[in-house]
Amino acid sequence: RAKREGRGRVCFFESEMDRELRDRRLLLHDLRQAVEQNQLLVYFQPQARMDGEIIGFEALVRWNHPTRGFVPPDQFIPLAEENGLIIRLGEWVLREACREAASWPRPLQVAVNLSPVQFQAGDLERSIHQILLETGLAPTRLEVEITEGVLIGDFTRALTLLRRLKALGIRIAMDDFGTGYSSLSYLQSFPFDKIKIDRSFISDLEATPQSAEIVRAVLSLAHALKIPVVAEGVETEAQRVFLAREACEEMQGYLIGRPEPIERYLDLIGVTVEQRLSA
Ligand code: C2E
Ligand code: MG
Ligand code: MG
Ligand code: MG
Repeated sequence: RAKREGRGRVCFFESEMDRELRDRRLLLHDLRQAVEQNQLLVYFQPQARMDGEIIGFEALVRWNHPTRGFVPPDQFIPLAEENGLIIRLGEWVLREACREAASWPRPLQVAVNLSPVQFQAGDLERSIHQILLETGLAPTRLEVEITEGVLIGDFTRALTLLRRLKALGIRIAMDDFGTGYSSLSYLQSFPFDKIKIDRSFISDLEATPQSAEIVRAVLSLAHALKIPVVAEGVETEAQRVFLAREACEEMQGYLIGRPEPIERYLDLIGVTVEQRLSA
C-alpha cells in the first residue's frame, strides 16, 4: 500500500479502480444476503388491451437495500448474472409471481422475465414445472419474457427449452423487440406468442417520425405473422390513440399503471382489502 502510494498519479487511478471493485464486491455480498434472507420484493405492473381492460401483470423484481435504498434492476440483475446468483433470484421471483397470481379470483395472466443465464445453467424446465405444481397456477396463465440474449448463447439448447415450456402451455413473449441486433431473424426461429415493442420507440413516437414508422412496421410484420403485440412504456393518451389506430393489441406503461406492490391493485385482481387481510 505505502509503496504504491509513493508512485503518485498512477496510484490515484489504481485506488479509484480498487474502490469500484470493492463497491461491487460489497453490493454482491449484500445481494446474496438479500436473496437468501428474502429481502427482495416483487412489484406488479398491469398490462391492458387498448380499451383499458386489464389482462394481466408483469412481475418486476425490486431490491430495497438497507442503506442504499432501491437499487435499479438494471444494476443488480447484471451483477447477479455474472456469478450465477440469478438462478436462485430468478426462481424466487417466479415462485412469488406464480403464488401471487394463483391467489387471484380472476384468471389474469402473469408475465415473468427470464435471464439468458437461466437458460444456460440449471434445470429451468424442471424448476418452472415444480413451481407450477407447487403453487397450483395453470401453466396457461404464465407468460415468460425473454430477450434475444437468450438465443445468442447456446441457440439449440435455448430453442429446445422454449419448445418444452411452450408444450407445457406456457406462453413465450419476445421482450424489448427492436433493440437487439437481429430481432427479425429470431421471429423465424421460434413461434413467439407475443412481441413487446421496446419502450424507446414508444417514447419517441410524437417527437420523431422515424419511430412512428418503425412502430407501424413492427405492427404490420407481427400481424402478418399473426403474433399479438404489446407496446411497452405507454405514458400518454396520444400514444395510446396512435397505437390503437394502428391496431396494436395490448399496452403496458405508466398511463395504465406503474409497477407497484400488488396491494395497490387489489381492485383490478378482484379482491377487497378485507378478503386480502383475512387470507
Ligand atoms: P423490462 O422487462 O423490459 O421491463 C420494463 C421496464 O420498463 C421496467 O423497468 C418498468 O418499470 C419500466 N416501465 C414500464 N412502463 C414504463 C413507462 O411507461 N415509462 C417508463 N419510463 N418506464 C416504464 P424495471 O422494473 O426497472 O426493470 C428493468 C429491467 O430489469 C426489465 O426490463 C428486465 O429486463 C429486468 N428485470 C426486472 N425484473 C426482473 C426479473 O425478475 N428477472 C430478470 N431476469 N430481469 C428482470
Ligand atoms: Mg419484461
Ligand atoms: Mg421490455
Ligand atoms: Mg428491458
